[in-house]
Amino acid sequence: MPVRKTSAHSEEERPKPKLTVADMAAVKKELEARAKYKIEILFSRHRSSRAEKASPLMVLIWESGKRFHGGGDQKMYWCGYNDCDKPLSSDLFAYMHVVCPHCNREIFLDPKAKQAHVKSLIEQGKNPDSMRRMPYVVGERLANLTPPKLAELLEKTWRNLDSNADIYLKYSPYEIRYDPLHDNETKTVDNLERVRIQRQPVIYTLKNIMKDLHAGADLRGRLLSMITS
Ligand SMILES: [Zn+2]
Repeated sequence: MPVRKTSAHSEEERPKPKLTVADMAAVKKELEARAKYKIEILFSRHRSSRAEKASPLMVLIWESGKRFHGGGDQKMYWCGYNDCDKPLSSDLFAYMHVVCPHCNREIFLDPKAKQAHVKSLIEQGKNPDSMRRMPYVVGERLANLTPPKLAELLEKTWRNLDSNADIYLKYSPYEIRYDPLHDNETKTVDNLERVRIQRQPVIYTLKNIMKDLHAGADLRGRLLSMITS
């Protein structure tokens, strides 16, 4: 008995879609176009977008897609020396301390590490004063800034991240308190991951930043309009 041919292919017979050379080039380009870093601004719930009014906020920086096979970001830190203030990858962290790759100075990871070092110097009968002056890495930058000052800080942060970062504006469900006395200390933020995923952020992608810069836009002006919109 002859087998009747039907025009419809079964699921198994249907040829699998193959990526063409052009597809693969497009995927590669897309991955390459992805920004290496991420800048996140977290605003308190009650923030003002009026140009003259300061709002408490938190700045965080991340290495994009560094964790979980590209699915997660890795938190970055700033050098604790005010005259350096450059971003650091936590890949550089050694036990209790890190050497800043920009200024080559040693920085403590946290107050506990500093206490341990100071204590051991005292026990050895050595002067701990210079150790006491050594700063910590900065994990979250807390500030109380007007929109123009924030635009200035964002532009500086973006340039310090090799001009290779996406910028996210988010609203924290928690109050952000700014304490100028503890400006340079590392603070632990509870539920940081939870804060990060709440509410739809405003995103200024590297791609759009580049497009605007090519069109002759002034970056700080664009950032200011993003903040105040
Ligand atoms: Zn440094």
